[in-house]
Amino acid sequence: MLTHFIGGLRVAAGPPFPVHDPVTGEVLRQVHEADPEVVDRAVRAAREAARDWAALPVAERAGWMRRLADGIEARFDDLVAAEIADTGKPLEQTRTLDIPRGAQNFRAFAEIAAQRPDDAFHLPGVLSYTVRRPLGVVAVIVPWNLPFLLMTWKLAPALVAGNTVVVKPSENTPGSAALFAEICAEVGLPDGVVNVVFGHGPSGRLLVEHPGVDGVTFTGSTATGRAIMKSVSDRVKPVSFELGGKNAGLVFADCDLDRAVDGTVKSVFTNGGQVCLCTERLYVERPIFEEFCARLAARAQEVTPQPMISAEHREKVLSYYDLARSEGAKVLTGGGVPSFGDSRDSGYFVEPTVVTGLSEWSRFNREEIFGPVCHVAPFDTEAEAVDLANGSDYGLAATLWTTNLDRAHRVAQRLEAGLVWVNTWYLRDLRTPFGGVKLSGIGREGGTQSLDFYSEPTTITIKLEQPDA
Ligand code: NAD
Repeated sequence: MLTHFIGGLRVAAGPPFPVHDPVTGEVLRQVHEADPEVVDRAVRAAREAARDWAALPVAERAGWMRRLADGIEARFDDLVAAEIADTGKPLEQTRTLDIPRGAQNFRAFAEIAAQRPDDAFHLPGVLSYTVRRPLGVVAVIVPWNLPFLLMTWKLAPALVAGNTVVVKPSENTPGSAALFAEICAEVGLPDGVVNVVFGHGPSGRLLVEHPGVDGVTFTGSTATGRAIMKSVSDRVKPVSFELGGKNAGLVFADCDLDRAVDGTVKSVFTNGGQVCLCTERLYVERPIFEEFCARLAARAQEVTPQPMISAEHREKVLSYYDLARSEGAKVLTGGGVPSFGDSRDSGYFVEPTVVTGLSEWSRFNREEIFGPVCHVAPFDTEAEAVDLANGSDYGLAATLWTTNLDRAHRVAQRLEAGLVWVNTWYLRDLRTPFGGVKLSGIGREGGTQSLDFYSEPTTITIKLEQPDA
């Protein structure tokens, strides 16, 4: 049974709930659900630890971040196993991306924070400078698709900036967060600096509504982002939101077609399409449209299916496959459930799917599906391609494939998205701003932008009297 981690102690309180193995549908483990008392205890523990943690010099907190990275590396295999058990991810991806990025997040933000200068402004006889103070207690609410990577992406800058935290991972993926709590204890992190509570949406709501919480950082769906915004509005708490997407891929006829097909297969099907940055809307210049569709559909058939996270999410994705058909789509490949003839048949798999023929105003093309699926449509001009990409309520990421340098810059600068990739996808430098526009979020994290969110500047101005000459 997984227990909460509060003030350095394991806390077994609140009713149990089951977590299922997405590969077979079997119950994996039981977890305690945080009730009001548990959430209150966690926030109090974080508040008690806040003053001493904030008072440490940033170089010392950076040292703790490096120790946490070392602790993650020491428990690497356990973390890989926990992440795979909860999500059904491929071993290779978990070993090369999810868990190493967790350690890298702590190392990167240790460097960024330790090297960051404060601002100073001089006028004749006047000196103004800023100091940054942490927010206090930060609620960290994260989803199930990249559980460890996204949790540490928020934890590292929040902690190094001097905040204490209460984390609530997704109800579907508590395993790596529970191990991280053990790692905090193993490296000797002061009690109460990191607290972890488990549970569903209502536990998260109790946390963000707690009066002892000073800021909320959230990654998840736009619907939950809206709910959290309402929850914190009375107390006007700062929020950082990384929300949903309906990302466009633009494929120009002057692209390197092999590279564009390879890259598109990754951008549509990685992690079973369950990455906020995945492409769900593809626009292909007409002269290569037929060939691109044929090659993409053929490659989709070779993709090893990855399970959806839950039975509920699988039903959601399958309902969009049905919707595509009822809205008049032509299904180029997939559209159903794969059959394995073994225990995976009771898991949460769906077929990798490519469809075409729908209008831009179809629900299929407007709503985030979050599965291994995309719609492909032709375009004739660059201007039309930009309009199509921008014609979405979301604006997280876009990808374009072209060998024309002028076009690459021209189009990239016109796209309404927080992130644009040219001839690649998912490449990240952790110092760059990350986040989306429109329904895809509020604010940016990454590099110094994260430190800005997790702290508040105070401007101090001094009048310097000049002695009479
Ligand atoms: P979700 O919004 O259902 O849940 C996310 C987290 O919020 C979970 O921990 C959940 O328990 C909690 N929660 C639910 N209701 C809450 C409430 N009222 N108050 C506080 N917490 C609450 O999202 P999900 O299904 O876990 O994840 C998939 C979504 O996340 C997709 O929409 C995807 O695009 C998005 N996502 C975005 C990014 C990004 O960087 N923009 C990254 C990954 C995932």
